[in-house]
Amino acid sequence: MNTIKVLDKEFNILLENDNILKRTRLIGIQMNVDYENRCPLFIGVLNGSFLFMADLVKEITVPCEMAFIRVSSYKDTESTGEIKEVFGLPENLKGRDIIIVEDIVDTGFTLSYILKEIYKQAPASVSVCSLLLKPDALKAPIDELEYVGFEIANEFVVGYGLDYNGHGRNLNHIYTVKTVASPLP
Ligand code: 5GP
Repeated sequence: MNTIKVLDKEFNILLENDNILKRTRLIGIQMNVDYENRCPLFIGVLNGSFLFMADLVKEITVPCEMAFIRVSSYKDTESTGEIKEVFGLPENLKGRDIIIVEDIVDTGFTLSYILKEIYKQAPASVSVCSLLLKPDALKAPIDELEYVGFEIANEFVVGYGLDYNGHGRNLNHIYTVKTVASPLP
């Protein structure tokens, strides 16, 4: 289905699942080279990254560990930049090679906050893998953003883990919100 409805909004297909899995496989291959002879700790940022994290780690052949954290999420479709707290961060990150797995980087506020918390524990290295990146929305460059699945336009997306007010995470593909053309003046 190319067009779907989630709650009150209509969405058009943006990235098909096949395409997402192909890109994920390539990222995994690159990580297996980059982390040879190391044992990275993947930290998935819930809820949005759960499907991407699951598909990504299936491609990883080096020894690795996994953990999940949670940060407070935005309401509706707007990024407010307000982050309340990070929950579930492991307390033994000293000397570890960390790979943060995100669903999407929009303004980058969430990621910057998570990075700040992780650096407090003096890890050996930190890199970030985000399935999606909205380059036009990013407020400041993030050096750790080493693996990006797809760069997308500054529009709200849903599916493959990403929600619209709690709905749509189960969708296999990623969809972008249908914009209503504004009337001519
Ligand atoms: P940032 O802090 O970079 O602005 O936003 C990161 C978080 O905002 C993501 O982890 C995600 O939860 C949410 N977010 C940002 N853009 C979108 C979007 O287009 N769709 C959905 N579903 N969530 C988004």
